[in-house]
Amino acid sequence: MTNLSDLNEHDREICERVTDLKNDMQQRTLEWARINTGSWNKEGLELLAPKLVEAFSALDAKTTVTHPDTFEKVANNGEVESFDTGPIIEVVARPEADVQVIMSGHYDTVFPQHTFTEITDIGNDRLNGPGLADMKGGLSVMLGALQAFEAGPLKEKLGYRIVMTPDEETGNFASAPFLTAAAKSGALVGMTYEPCMDTGAMSGGRKGSAVFDVILRGRSAHAGRAKEEGRSALEAAAHMVVALEALNGQYEGVTFNVGAIDGGGAVNIVPDLAIVRFGARAPDAEAAEWATQQVKDFLKAATDRDGISGHMHGGFYRPPKPRNAAQQKLFDAVTDTGKAIGLELEFVDTGGVCEGNNIFAAGVPNVDTLGVMGGRIHSSEEYVVMSSFVERAQLSALLLNRFADGRIDAKKIKALMG
Ligand SMILES: [Zn+2]
Repeated sequence: MTNLSDLNEHDREICERVTDLKNDMQQRTLEWARINTGSWNKEGLELLAPKLVEAFSALDAKTTVTHPDTFEKVANNGEVESFDTGPIIEVVARPEADVQVIMSGHYDTVFPQHTFTEITDIGNDRLNGPGLADMKGGLSVMLGALQAFEAGPLKEKLGYRIVMTPDEETGNFASAPFLTAAAKSGALVGMTYEPCMDTGAMSGGRKGSAVFDVILRGRSAHAGRAKEEGRSALEAAAHMVVALEALNGQYEGVTFNVGAIDGGGAVNIVPDLAIVRFGARAPDAEAAEWATQQVKDFLKAATDRDGISGHMHGGFYRPPKPRNAAQQKLFDAVTDTGKAIGLELEFVDTGGVCEGNNIFAAGVPNVDTLGVMGGRIHSSEEYVVMSSFVERAQLSALLLNRFADGRIDAKKIKALMG
């Protein structure tokens, strides 16, 4: 019986190779973070993409760059608009190898152009800067781990498919099909590089997340001369909002939150357009189905009103990622592997979502917080812990070694997905 909390010779060598890459991993992260890649900044995304391609060319793999389809958004006039994003970068190595891993990460950030740009040393082994932790540092750690792995003797036993996305922070609307396709092309396990917390805690179970836009149309009329001829879309929307909020507490773990009602206009006109924008979270597939059915029922109730028509956009774009047997087995293997290099890893369930949700929905168990240690992400106080580059890349490198030589049986883990 092999003990995952021990290092063998291959493990010791790979850890040394990772240590040698420390400077490279840190420096390229800073370089990448200096390029603004806010999710809507297509120009910035197009600028960083070739730099990523160049850095990942250090691997023995084939890279393809694809411009995805536009994605759709419901505008305030009720019409559907299309948006463009940056390219999707895929890096594929040894697709014929016995063990296949899907790896993923995003290179966009939540920071729009000309907002948060400075990188500042804030002491205590921490740098403050945009995307250092979420997740340019993570991409760099992924690359470092793979470089160290490919320099070792287990290389031929393991192949991988990396998907780097330009739109994670806005929901992977354009890149989700690429993640799904990559996960379904034989991957046994997934590794995603969101930051872990600065306590070292990683994400365990994740809820699913939905975004809905319900568009309701009534009939406009002059509020003074012919109020009775009008049909208020806002009134129908208001009933729907009250009903949606009343769902909170009705089903274990399911929450609804209405974020906005758009539409309407001058007070002397009966409003003929309202768009109800809301989100929902659900812990598992049945709960997500229940939540979706409620929305459909409310839409029907709204359109049953005299003179009101409507339709809905959206749904659970990130399906739930519950802590099932496969996930737990993988978490246990990661925890034991961490012990081998003195890490006390802990997996904590969260309401947050990421690419790991999509990969799980495609049938592949995965760990999604293998990136650097950091905190205050999505704020101008975002920071990365500099010493975490080596330890986190070592963790990934050891996992690759162990998937490759079968000390962690990825096939068995995947089989537990049922
Ligand atoms: Zn992220």
